[in-house]
Amino acid sequence: MMNEKFTIKFWGVRGSYPTPGPETIKYGGNTACVEIRAGERTIILDAGTGIIPLGRKLAKQKSSEIILLFSHLHHDHTQGFPFFVPAYIPNTRLHIFGPGGTPETLRHVLEHNQSTETFPISLQDMPAMKDIQSVRESQVIVWESALQGYEENIRVSESSSRLSPDALVIRIYKSHAHPGGVYIYRITWRGKSAVYATDTEGYVGTDRKLAAFARDADVLIHDAQYSEEHYCGRLAGFSSTQGYGHSTADMACEVVASAQAGELILFHHEPAYTDAMVAAQEAAAKKIFSNSRAAYEGLEITLNPLPSFGRGQG
Ligand SMILES: [Zn+2]
Ligand SMILES: [Zn+2]
Repeated sequence: MMNEKFTIKFWGVRGSYPTPGPETIKYGGNTACVEIRAGERTIILDAGTGIIPLGRKLAKQKSSEIILLFSHLHHDHTQGFPFFVPAYIPNTRLHIFGPGGTPETLRHVLEHNQSTETFPISLQDMPAMKDIQSVRESQVIVWESALQGYEENIRVSESSSRLSPDALVIRIYKSHAHPGGVYIYRITWRGKSAVYATDTEGYVGTDRKLAAFARDADVLIHDAQYSEEHYCGRLAGFSSTQGYGHSTADMACEVVASAQAGELILFHHEPAYTDAMVAAQEAAAKKIFSNSRAAYEGLEITLNPLPSFGRGQG
């Protein structure tokens, strides 16, 4: 029997840098990495250090075809990639997408990340087949399945027309609410959608373009790095973080409410925050939008997709 589940699993939920230690046990200290499984397909969002344990699991399961999406190329979203075990397995096929000015930009940044001076193994020497390309906001990434006479393939397209009911579709919104910009992804499969909006700062009166992009999503994963007091510079020992490109829990709540999305997952926790401080963020969010949770390592969310013979791409 085929696996028909749509699951979202968190492997790294911390922003900026990894934070091991007794004060971060509950939520976890690995940097950004989220695994999405849609039936037999595996999609990974970002390659922070959370991708390292995920890679060990995928290597055991022999997942041979994987899409890896980079929101942007700051350290905390790329630093786990050199330790991603499937990249060392020759029959793995990695389809890697992310931002960049030209189609080669992403490849160049990843090559630079593993230059002779900085890492012993170059990108080229990782034996997996790697298809690496920068994509634009106007493009959609489609993972078509072999069902119902369609041919299985992963392609970058200018439109999302002529898809099978089982196609997985990834849309992109380029946000400027983070230094250097960031890609926000919407992953849709059989009428269910998850939106990944990390490293983004809220606007006064809500980020309306983001809310429109996330409209009616089942799950919104949203940056919530700072408490209100911290953001404004009123938290003892911390300076104001306005303009750093990260949100408060209140900002994330404004977006989820405006988008009328089903659930809010607070993400990219401030590395200096203890478990108690992240729990306080969660409590603050629940007061505004009750269906809110703070992401923690191991959190798994299951959505119930439409049957494969159903119609409609949300
Ligand atoms: Zn980050
Ligand atoms: Zn960043």
